[in-house]
Amino acid sequence: MTATPFELGGVSVAPGQRTIVEMPAAQLYTQTPLNIPVHVVHGRQKGPVLLVCAAIHGDELNGVEIIRRVLRMSSMKRLHGTLVAVPVVNVFGFIHKSRYLPDRRDLNRCFPGSETGSLGARMAWLFKTQILDRATHAVDLHTGAVYRSNQPQIRANLESPDTAAMAEAFGVPLILNSVLRDGTLREVAEAQNIPVITYEAGEALRFDETSIRVGVRGITNVMRHLGMLSERKVPGHHVKPAVAGSSVWVRAERDGVFRSLVALGARIKKDQILGRISSPFTADEIEVRSPCAGILVGRDNLPLVNEGEALFHIARFDEVKQVAQQVEDFTNGIVDADPVAENDPPIAP
Ligand SMILES: [Zn+2]
Repeated sequence: MTATPFELGGVSVAPGQRTIVEMPAAQLYTQTPLNIPVHVVHGRQKGPVLLVCAAIHGDELNGVEIIRRVLRMSSMKRLHGTLVAVPVVNVFGFIHKSRYLPDRRDLNRCFPGSETGSLGARMAWLFKTQILDRATHAVDLHTGAVYRSNQPQIRANLESPDTAAMAEAFGVPLILNSVLRDGTLREVAEAQNIPVITYEAGEALRFDETSIRVGVRGITNVMRHLGMLSERKVPGHHVKPAVAGSSVWVRAERDGVFRSLVALGARIKKDQILGRISSPFTADEIEVRSPCAGILVGRDNLPLVNEGEALFHIARFDEVKQVAQQVEDFTNGIVDADPVAENDPPIAP
């Protein structure tokens, strides 16, 4: 069925057209207008409206690059439905290379927001009413915080069957069935029955090529799942993801200089030594041991730690050994593959 024009932010996009809608976010005190640019790719044929957004935490950059590569794919010309892509939601934070807004709020705790509330509430309200409300499905792209990296993983509320199907379609081996936090984009989307998944991979303020490739592939997998792109002629290897029953953070029991002994994605055994914290001035040293078996899905990269800081994030699975093998095979497959981003030169070895 042929599509009708798609309206967003007062702009009408004809079927088969693409455009960038400049959504006015603020007028700075320098009188400079600050916009949130929104890419709209509107297919000739009717279909779902998929929102893909990144940098709701302004320093989380992998998603910005993932969206850039997705928008360059030639298959976008044959899209069914509409892709609404927002490379940078928190434009304030992006300018300052910061997770937060100028009022030090976390935009991803401000949803659904309000028209008359704080700066964060107003931005959340704008994003919700002007952009999210137009979507039928959503993918929110994140990374770990500064100095912390995440193994590529999907977080989603698997109680919703449509969300669970999207989470599986994305095609990463690890899914964390996570409780919705107050004020997140994910929470407000779920409340409106918009199936939504969060992709977490890599570290803030860094590009991680594997995380980016996995993300580009994941979004195209979701678009195929939703019927927005045609199926591959040669079916790709389908990953059956494992769902973590729970996850735990292992924290520093003292201040000091921290050395990690395990890599992201590694299989962890109960009581295994994960790292050491030592004093740079004396011979004092303690071991950091794992309280449980699981897969390492997040890790601190900064050697300087204070007592109580989160060092390792371990996800627990019933079949840890099998999941670990699947993660290893998957990661090797991504690293060895040709670049998934069309027209991008291969990365240097
Ligand atoms: Zn984030």
